[in-house]
Amino acid sequence: MEVHVNGSCIGCGLCVSTCPNEFFMTDGGTAAAFSPEVGSDLAGQVQAAADSCPVSAIEVR
Ligand code: SF4
Repeated sequence: MEVHVNGSCIGCGLCVSTCPNEFFMTDGGTAAAFSPEVGSDLAGQVQAAADSCPVSAIEVR
């Protein structure tokens, strides 16, 4: 799985709470992914974060 946080992020912090091993808040107040490549161990949490992002800013494929 690959993940990317796009420019729609409003910095709500939900994804960081859902999956702190993959997402963090930047100094600019928006979220980013530690790594674009997501291992199978985190795939479920990353998908859950993507599904719950209020502005659909988390793109997975
Ligand atoms: Fe940004 Fe979405 Fe994460 Fe909220 S859940 S911080 S809007 S990427």
